[in-house]
Order: sequence, then C-alpha cells, then structure tokens
Amino acid sequence: MNFDLTAEQQEIRKVAREFALGEIAPVAARHDETGEFPHAIVKKLGELGFMGVLVPPEYGGAGLDYVSYALIVEELNRVDGSVGITMWAHNSLCTNHINLFGTKVQKGKYLGRLARGEAIGAWGLTEPGSGSDAAAMKSTAVRQGEHFVLNGTKAFITNGSVGQIAVVMALTDPARGAKGISAFILEKGMPGFSPGQRYAKLGLHASDTSELVFDGARVPAENLLGELNLGFVNTLQVLEGGRIAMAAMGVGLAQGALDASLAYVKQRTAFGKTLAEFDGIQGMLAEMATDIEAARLLTLRAAYLKDRGQPARHAASMAKVFASEVGMRAATRAVQLHGGAGYMREFPVERIFRDVKLCEIGEGTSEVQRMVIAREILGMR
Ligand SMILES: Cc1cc2nc3c(=O)[nH]c(=O)nc-3n(C[C@H](O)[C@H](O)[C@H](O)COP(=O)(O)OP(=O)(O)OC[C@H]3O[C@@H](n4cnc5c(N)ncnc54)[C@H](O)[C@@H]3O)c2cc1C
Repeated sequence: MNFDLTAEQQEIRKVAREFALGEIAPVAARHDETGEFPHAIVKKLGELGFMGVLVPPEYGGAGLDYVSYALIVEELNRVDGSVGITMWAHNSLCTNHINLFGTKVQKGKYLGRLARGEAIGAWGLTEPGSGSDAAAMKSTAVRQGEHFVLNGTKAFITNGSVGQIAVVMALTDPARGAKGISAFILEKGMPGFSPGQRYAKLGLHASDTSELVFDGARVPAENLLGELNLGFVNTLQVLEGGRIAMAAMGVGLAQGALDASLAYVKQRTAFGKTLAEFDGIQGMLAEMATDIEAARLLTLRAAYLKDRGQPARHAASMAKVFASEVGMRAATRAVQLHGGAGYMREFPVERIFRDVKLCEIGEGTSEVQRMVIAREILGMR
C-alpha cells in the first residue's frame, strides 16, 4: 500500500492551492455578498486546464486522473465553495457524461469548448417532483422526424442559467420507467429551451442554480447521448464520479473551516491565554483534523479505485456521505470556536457553514448514500 502522491499529483495540488489563494480568496466574500457569478475566475480555470480535467488531450482536455481531480476540487473548495461547485459540476456531470458516452462526433463538437472553459456545462436530472427518486421524472422526449421534441422542467440545476451546453435526461419510453430514459445534449438558443427562474439559496451564492425549461424544445436526433433508453443507466456511472467530487468538496470546505479556526484560536485571548492553549479547544481541533484526514483518505481511495478501473460505486458513496457530514461537523465546530465572530459575515466560517450544507443534499442525499452502501453490503444490488 502506498499513500504517496506522485510528483505530478503534488505539483497539480500546489498549482490549485496557489490559484485558489491568489485569484479566488480575494473575491470570495464579495461574490458571496453580491451573488455575482465568477466569470473571470472560470475563464482562468479554463486556461489552467481545470475545466477539462478528465477530458483526454485529443479532445482538448488535461487528461488527468481522478486522484488529481479530487485534489484540485479539494483545494478550490478549501477557499470557496461557489467556485468549487461551479467547476466540478461542469467537469463531473455535463462534460464527463459526454466524455463517457458521447460519439466521436459529439466529443469533437463539444468537449474542446467545455474543456477550455469557453462554454460552461449544466446537467439536468432533478425535477420539481423527483430528486432522490430521479427515475420518477416527468419530462418527455418524443421523436419527430430528425428531431426529438422535449417537454418538461428540471429543478435546482447548477450552471443552469450561465451554461451554454446542457446534458438532460427525459423519458423516451415512459412505460419502461428507469429503462425508458434517454440523455440529450442541448445548447443555449435551441428553440423551446430556456433557463427558468434562478434560485435564491442558503449558501453557494456565487454559484448559479436555476431551472431548465423545455417547451417543445427541438433537439436534433444526433444529439441523443448514449443509447436510446440507456440514459438513466449511464447516469448512475456519471453520478459515481460526481460523488467523488462532492466528497472532495466536503473535504475542502472542512479543511477551509479548520484553516480559519487554527488562525483564529492562536490570536484570540480569553482568561489571559490564547484560545489555542485551552484543553477543550485543542480537543475540538484534534477531532476536526482527524475527521478531515479520514474523509480525505476515503475520497482519495474512491478516486484511486476509479483510476484503476475497479468498482467504485460503494466507495464513492462511503466517501460522499462521510466527507459531507465531516464538512458539516467541521463548519459547526469552526463557528463555535469563533464564538460571536463566527456568526458574523466578516469571518469566512459563516460562509462555509452555509455553503457546506449542500454537500449532504446534492448528488444523492446522505440517506440515499446510506441506501447504496447498505444494498451493497447486504448483497441486494
Ligand atoms: C444547490 C443545489 C445544486 C444542485 N445541482 C443539481 C444539478 O446540477 N443537477 C441535478 O440534476 N440536480 C441538482 N440538484 C438537486 C439535488 O441532486 C437534489 O436536491 C437531491 O438529489 C435531493 O432530491 P430532492 O431535493 O428532490 O429531495 P427529496 O428526494 O424530496 O428528499 C427529501 C428528503 O427525503 C429523504 N428521502 C427521500 N427518499 C428516501 C428514502 N427512500 N429513504 C430515506 N430518506 C429518503 C431525502 O434524503 C431527503 O432528506 C441540486 C440541488 C441543490 C440544492
């Protein structure tokens, strides 16, 4: 067993850390306050290769492994969850769905723009009436000549209104349920396709979350992604990678909460000592650090399995549920360690506390991850 990162992985993590500190940290609080989408940062992420991390070089991507990807996602989220989710939802969901299941023509047409950050990707599975039970969707796609005509609405879609390219799932054979769902590539400007309302959220204010509306949207038949009626089956594979990214987001936000807490307790005094000198405070910090290390190891192990082509569904779910709950716990402790200051906008832990809650909900809630893990260990899959 080897826990060492390769020299390349260490270098990639360093680049991501320096970028996050130099370019994201100075504007993260302002973006959170105003809700401004970080277009300039996304452009620079594209130049660094971070908008096409898993895309092979022949399609214009960085062609990196999942371990490197998890390290980048962790470092970006360590500084700002809004930039972090914008980047990983684009990479793991829209872009990777095309990367995994697209034809050569589709990959040639879409992956380069996505990988360079010239187009932002969105991915629509959830609907107003179906989230955890995603296959209970209502959106339909009916073939009419050389097009599919889509009707329905997707809910809570990351990059929904800023994205130029979207991969969406719709029923093509409603009688077959989950085995009658197909995936399609949509582009902004296609007739009948528009973003609906943009949501006001608890956290991740600078990340864009909106509806996607299909009102007789006419999608060329060549934009069917993967085989007809296999869209939902393929989605499960896309989600496996997405859960590793969400786990890395939880680790990053938790590490950000710990970073801020370590700095704070060294300078804040009470009863004639710094907070760092009290046993109770040290115990909290030690537990946070141990939790985070365990979450990081689970996340990197799931990424490592993926890189080796080994089954990773159960490992990804374990990493996701553990890391997101570690993130929430770490953020709660970090606010507590800051006392009243932790409740104020002025300190980053207030933002992390709001941002991290998403980790327990998106990409399958904690309850859904526990279902996936339980089915695996009970042999019920
Ligand atoms: C900020 C944000 C960004 C998002 N981005 C995207 C995106 O880009 N693309 C996309 O497709 N979706 C996206 N989502 C949607 C997200 O994946 C769903 O919200 C999530 O899967 C939960 O679905 P739901 O909201 O319908 O909750 P529900 O499914 O209604 O669940 C409600 C509660 O019931 C619990 N529950 C449900 N079923 C069971 C069960 N069988 N056993 C025990 N408990 C159960 C859930 O765990 C949860 O606690 C996003 C959501 C948010 C908030």
